[in-house]
Order: sequence, then C-alpha cells, then structure tokens
Amino acid sequence: MSSIFTKIVNGEIPCYKIYEDEKTMAFLDINPETPGHTLVIPKVEVDKIYELSDEDYTALMNTVKKLSVHMEKVLGTRTLWKVIGTDVPHAHVHLLPFDKTWHQDRHVELTEDEFKDIQKKLEIK
Ligand code: 5GP
Repeated sequence: MSSIFTKIVNGEIPCYKIYEDEKTMAFLDINPETPGHTLVIPKVEVDKIYELSDEDYTALMNTVKKLSVHMEKVLGTRTLWKVIGTDVPHAHVHLLPFDKTWHQDRHVELTEDEFKDIQKKLEIK
C-alpha cells in the first residue's frame, strides 16, 4: 500500500504545497510545531533517508537547502532541520522556522486561512 506521502505526491490526498521538482516535493506539515513547519520528501517511496540512492539523497538535500534559505529570507528566522521518521514510513525532513518558544512535541493550531497565508508566503513556483 502507498504511504500517505506517496498519496500526496499522486494528488490523492490534498496538501498545502510549497515546492515540487522532478524528484522532490515540499508541503506544510498538517500538525505544525511552528507556523511554516514544512516537510520535504523524495518522490520515491523509501522508509529511511539512508535507503535513498545517492542521486535521490542529493536531490532531497538540495531541496532542503534551497527551501531553508528561502524560508529564512521570507520569514527572517533561522530554519531548523529535524529528522524523526517514526510516524510515516516515507523518508522526510522537517523544516521548522525557528521560534524561541519552540520545544520538542509542541504544536500550534492553525486555521485553514492561516495555512493558506503561510503557504502563499513560502511557496516557490
Ligand atoms: P515523523 O514520522 O517524522 O515522526 O512525523 C511525520 C509528520 O508527518 C508529522 O509531523 C505529521 O504531522 C505529518 N503528517 C502526517 N500525516 C500527514 C498528512 O496527511 N499531511 C501532512 N501534510 N502532514 C502529515
């Protein structure tokens, strides 16, 4: 069965998309730890990041870097990286706009309009 993230890649599940290229995709985390919390994924479905081919790993990390720089420019805050991977068995990197009140497992509630606003600020077309 496809992972939730493959279903997002295939358009079967909606998301607030930030970026997409041939090998990677980025979208807002549905349960954000800070506003703008973004997930960057490879389109190829593997559980762990270190299972990616060198080419797919490089593509993933290039997107992580590109979006981190972009997020910092747009939001004026440092971008934290986090790799957990215990919930969804599809490799992904969390990008968190730094927030001094952030701590592990804190979550913020965003309305649909707030998700759309932050998506508009962060998306790269
Ligand atoms: P991890 O596997 O790194 O512990 O966490 C997986 C992340 O995926 C969680 O932060 C969770 O909120 C996010 N997530 C799970 N299902 C969905 C979904 O359907 N859409 C989006 N946008 N994020 C999801």
